Amino acid sequence: MAVLLNLITLATAVAFASVAHASSSLQDATADLQHARNLLARYQLIDTHVDTPQVLRVLARQPLDMLPDLNISLPGQFDLPRARQGGVGGAFFTVWTPCQDLLGIDVGQDFQQPDQTIRDTIESIDLIREMIDYEPSLQYATTAAEAEQAFSNGKIAALIGMEGSHMLGNSLSTIRILARLGVRYLTLTHTCHSSFASSAGGGAGTDGSFLRPVHPGNGLTAIGRELVKELNRLGVIVDLSHVSDQTMTDVLDITDVPIAFTHSGARGVNDHPRNVPDEILARIGPGKNEGIIQSVLFKHFIDSNNATIPRVVDHVEYIALHTSRQHVGLASDFDGMGEVVEGMEDCSKWPSLVAEFIRRGWTDEEIKGLLGGNLLRVMRAVEQAAYRRRDERPSSAIYGKRTDLPASNWGGPNGAYLPGKVKAIVDRRHLRDEL
Ligand SMILES: [Zn+2]
Repeated sequence: MAVLLNLITLATAVAFASVAHASSSLQDATADLQHARNLLARYQLIDTHVDTPQVLRVLARQPLDMLPDLNISLPGQFDLPRARQGGVGGAFFTVWTPCQDLLGIDVGQDFQQPDQTIRDTIESIDLIREMIDYEPSLQYATTAAEAEQAFSNGKIAALIGMEGSHMLGNSLSTIRILARLGVRYLTLTHTCHSSFASSAGGGAGTDGSFLRPVHPGNGLTAIGRELVKELNRLGVIVDLSHVSDQTMTDVLDITDVPIAFTHSGARGVNDHPRNVPDEILARIGPGKNEGIIQSVLFKHFIDSNNATIPRVVDHVEYIALHTSRQHVGLASDFDGMGEVVEGMEDCSKWPSLVAEFIRRGWTDEEIKGLLGGNLLRVMRAVEQAAYRRRDERPSSAIYGKRTDLPASNWGGPNGAYLPGKVKAIVDRRHLRDEL
């Protein structure tokens, strides 16, 4: 009987202890979440990849009519009430049009078949700029200082990134003008190759395999190298999410300006083409390329079998271990993915992710960097590099496969629009070509 009583006492004590333990870990979790909210209020979170413009375009025949909904409610993963709830302090809204093959257009081997991509690109930028003008809680930013200023005004800094060089119409003029319109990063490819660079493929909605190479070496092309130099000159961040491993290598070989991965994980945690391989991580960090790798929340890049908040943090910590805690940041891909990480269903959930870093012992200072400080450092370095190049001339290179320059048939019927001496030169050239 005594033994039985002892057993009962023991069982009761164990039960009490486990309840006490559960309640103390619940208290810890609540405290971590509150701490995360406090940090998000104090330090600016800048998400480098928000695809909301494409959601607006998909939902309405007249996308500008959707703008009032942004501050009420949208059916996607991002709108302003939820962004405020989640502590979002800034966002790069992405200019994006589908790779032409997804629209049923074959651009051909030389990427030269005509399409409507530049029109759609301009419409996408227009939509973002109008959205920022319309919405008082957004503040347009093109520099690190402007982004910080927006946050100190209590606004969400609104920046513009662009996802894919397939939108450039094979021309460097396009990126120069897009930079003037506010584009501050260019992802060198989306899920297709372009005349500039090779893509890894394997993005959301694909079977996750690498794309079959088309360029010799499967990296940057000659005009792609010019593009990278031009981006450095313009102060536009070179984004290596989505590109092939060789494109990553080629870029790191030719640039001394910090690069970014605006939405990628670590291949060492989940072997997927969209994640960054160890050989590339080895080239980023203190004293190397001082770039940054920003997280992503697409289920299949994180872990198809375990897409959870701790698993996202595993990716970031792995990358930080191979680079440093000053070379990582947080981004989502909200509104650009059909399947998300459990617990990170929309932009109101950021405190839950930040709380996991707190639980793992990241200091407030490290989290400040993770949220946006590290990215702002990269933005400043890119701005300073452009400033150092301010006297350099723009690249005059054109895509080598073009045959339309010097322009023919720009002189009107029988050259009627051309001044006499110009017409004489053109006529002589024409005659020479015929010989
Ligand atoms: Zn993407």
